Amino acid sequence: MKKVVIAGGGWSGCAAAAEAVRLGACVTLLERTDMLLGTGLAGGIMRNNGRFTATEELIALGAGELFQVIDQNIRHRNIRFPGHEHADLYDIGRIEGAVRRYLEEQDIHLVFQARISHIQMENRRIIHVTDDKDRTYAGDVFIDATGTAGPMNCCTKYGNGCAMCVLRCPSFGGRVSLTGLTGIEEYKGRKKDGSTGAMSGSCKLLKESLSPEIIRRLDQEGVCIIPIPKALIDDHLDLKCCQQYALPEFRDNIILLDTGHAKLMTPYYPLEKLHPIPGFQNARYEDPYAGGKGNSMRYFAMAPRENTLKVTDAENLFCAGEKAGLLVGHTEAIATGALAGYNSVRYAEGLALLELPRSLAIGDAIAYVKEEMATEEGMGRKYTFSGSCYFTRMKKLNLYTTDTEKIRRRVDEAGLTGIFKALNR
Ligand SMILES: Cc1cc2nc3c(=O)[nH]c(=O)nc-3n(C[C@H](O)[C@H](O)[C@H](O)COP(=O)(O)OP(=O)(O)OC[C@H]3O[C@@H](n4cnc5c(N)ncnc54)[C@H](O)[C@@H]3O)c2cc1C
Repeated sequence: MKKVVIAGGGWSGCAAAAEAVRLGACVTLLERTDMLLGTGLAGGIMRNNGRFTATEELIALGAGELFQVIDQNIRHRNIRFPGHEHADLYDIGRIEGAVRRYLEEQDIHLVFQARISHIQMENRRIIHVTDDKDRTYAGDVFIDATGTAGPMNCCTKYGNGCAMCVLRCPSFGGRVSLTGLTGIEEYKGRKKDGSTGAMSGSCKLLKESLSPEIIRRLDQEGVCIIPIPKALIDDHLDLKCCQQYALPEFRDNIILLDTGHAKLMTPYYPLEKLHPIPGFQNARYEDPYAGGKGNSMRYFAMAPRENTLKVTDAENLFCAGEKAGLLVGHTEAIATGALAGYNSVRYAEGLALLELPRSLAIGDAIAYVKEEMATEEGMGRKYTFSGSCYFTRMKKLNLYTTDTEKIRRRVDEAGLTGIFKALNR
């Protein structure tokens, strides 16, 4: 049985683990904190715009199980908010436990508080990795799913300081990149003004701290849009790493989504400006705790990689999620996680690696982001199926559709129906 070791238990690491174990590998998933899902603990939006297409592609490719787990933990289905159609919102209070139980049932060896900080290599091959507690994990192949958020010194240097987000670096130690430990130089994303990194695009208010009317609208409709008095409007749109939300509506209104907490669609919002708005007099933050001042900073460390998600210049290392480039989102992380998991086992078995074709949105996004990251301007953008430049491209190339039958046909025409279900030697 081939051994796959995955560092990072965000959505990409979980998807990679689910895929590799399905193909018969012995899988160890190492997570720095005491919970899975990483930044996904503060997210929740699924299936909005082109993410619907990507989700259905993954299901047709044979990697639909995590979406089933998500579907069982949805608070609101098929909602709209500015610039976004047919969104589902998962319940951030329940999703982590549901995913953890699902992965445990698959016999994935989950290790928490396992922050990888050392690596043993021979030539360009990783032999084993070691965590802060000196525990060593050997493998045939490794996947770097450590994300790009933080650590604290990056939030301090490039953002507004540690905003005390759900990644909890002071308690568990900051992010450490597996690719970085191999000595391979990584890419850094940039903001529009050329400075490094990007600030996360939403924060969470404690729902119970809002007025009964706002709570009622959130519970019933999933979304609540409140115009901001003119004198209190702040232009924060350039800060956002989620450019799909960099629309004037997100500047001029408070846009709240119900994920269990009230997801406020702005990187941060000073309490002294929030409290005067009717309904927000008692508002307080749930994530990050200092959401009045800042948010987590991301996109500091992306791995140079092939479209198979093998890290360039490393022998037995793959990458997934934000490590794989400027792709933002849970669906995006699950897509690259599934491909990295699939190819890691093929690599370990000595089989040819799979590159998804550009006739599929996921294949096109993976290849397009790699091309864009080779250019100055491309490094200043972010890419997601859900909006901004990549969703525009999806529509232009006729890749975007909500016709599930059509998506299945496309996957079938590419000869890839159910490909992620077995190794197909
Ligand atoms: C506040 C916020 C809200 C968001 N909302 C949404 C949303 O609603 N919808 C959406 O689609 N996307 C959303 N996103 C984006 C989305 O969460 C990410 O793009 C995606 O989930 C990234 O997944 P990942 O697995 O690549 O990385 P991460 O989620 O960053 O996970 C990386 C994991 O690796 C662990 N780790 C790091 N270093 C080590 C190490 N050395 N050893 C072991 N473990 C390590 C970390 O603890 C973490 O758990 C949001 C992001 C943020 C920050």
